Amino acid sequence: MRLSNYFMPTLKETPTEAQIVSHRLMLRAGMVRQASAGIYSWLPLGLRVLRKIEQIVREEQDRAGAQEVLMPTIQSADLWRESGRYDDYGKEMLRIVDRHNRDMLYGPTNEELITEIFRNSVKSYRDLPKNLYHIQWKFRDEVRPRFGVMRGREFLMKDAYSFDLDYDSAKTSYNKMFVAYLRTYARMGLKAIPMAADTGPIGGDLSHEFIILADTGESAIFCHNDYLESDVLAKDADYGGDLQAIVDSWTKLYAATDEKHDQAAFEAEVPEDKRVERRGIEVGHIFYFGDKYSKPLGAEVVTPDGKQAPVLMGSYGIGVSRLVGGIIEASHDENGIIWPESVAPYKVGLINLRAGDADCVNACDGAYASLNAAGVEVLYDDRDLGAGAKFAGMDLIGLPWQLVIGPRGLKNGVVELKNRKSGEREELTLNAAINKLA
Ligand code: ATP
Ligand code: MG
Ligand code: MG
Ligand code: MG
Repeated sequence: MRLSNYFMPTLKETPTEAQIVSHRLMLRAGMVRQASAGIYSWLPLGLRVLRKIEQIVREEQDRAGAQEVLMPTIQSADLWRESGRYDDYGKEMLRIVDRHNRDMLYGPTNEELITEIFRNSVKSYRDLPKNLYHIQWKFRDEVRPRFGVMRGREFLMKDAYSFDLDYDSAKTSYNKMFVAYLRTYARMGLKAIPMAADTGPIGGDLSHEFIILADTGESAIFCHNDYLESDVLAKDADYGGDLQAIVDSWTKLYAATDEKHDQAAFEAEVPEDKRVERRGIEVGHIFYFGDKYSKPLGAEVVTPDGKQAPVLMGSYGIGVSRLVGGIIEASHDENGIIWPESVAPYKVGLINLRAGDADCVNACDGAYASLNAAGVEVLYDDRDLGAGAKFAGMDLIGLPWQLVIGPRGLKNGVVELKNRKSGEREELTLNAAINKLA
């Protein structure tokens, strides 16, 4: 993509309405614009990041055996009356009346709808287990939408729903999602720590929030430092095998948000030099809730001994749009965003230092063509602008690599390659630079 053509309305000034760094940087980099409180339009640069995050989530869900569906954003109130949640959900639910005076709603979550789909089609234990997920916009009329896409009212969520015959198999389904979540966040360059969460009236120990550390996080977190140092992707996950050992390794050390925190236990279990007390952002939440919805909604199957039983369910959410802000909170410096390569909108920013110079234009156009041919995503600053503005702009949008081509270097047969994260610069021939990036 050539910047001269690209719709990337960057801002020089820091927007005053933005309280946290990710919100400021997303506005400044031209990634999103607010449409109304907590509701955002995604511009080209922001949308590319959103899509990359979504794709990593999708790949890891698929790998763990979940199957993608797509449910609508608008749901009928009838189902929610069946589950009893229509009145319970309260003001966070956006209620709509259609022209025939039917009560509808903009889905804040999808347990009811997926249970209905399931109960209409699955009748036998032989069809279990199943895990269905979708990646869809949700609406929650948050009292205080804030922090940009981190607490929006309309936001993109992946939610998966598992269906099992008995507790053991439900636990296996839960473990698969647990491990898939660890992998998903690690692939985005994040350290997300599973923390025990409230299970409400169901009880048991099967609910975890996945939390990333950031000073602007809304909850206080307390955990063992070893969790920050584990390398999740070092070993492949075998979803056909027993995942309990992995889950145990991530649940045996202390890790809790303020809701569940027990200072005495923290001090007893974690040596002082290993105690981490920080703030964190909830980027995912997995939950086993048994027959909470299948019972009232009548989602039953025939069991091996010929009886009828409600299926046992779990749900598994990831805040896809929240992650865009979350990743920036975890990875930026005073000059702008630092994208991990896996979610970067482009891998390389190509900078022509002298737009009016024929040699520079030739070399840059050639590099642009070669990188594109090699399948490298490149954003080419071909505009007639000063070097300072180009460098600042590239640092702001945070692409992992900057390939800088100018008249002085070309005379000596070299270009400059800068790593955004480390700040390291290297002079090398254009060919060597292209080979390194491809
Ligand atoms: P929170 O505690 O932040 O309000 P939640 O516990 O209400 O979140 P869940 O119902 O567990 O959210 O939804 C699953 C995931 O969806 C959350 O872990 C979070 O990442 C994301 N999410 C929830 N609410 C929002 C929101 N208002 N804006 C963006 N993402 C959200
Ligand atoms: Mg909430
Ligand atoms: Mg929460
Ligand atoms: Mg939650």
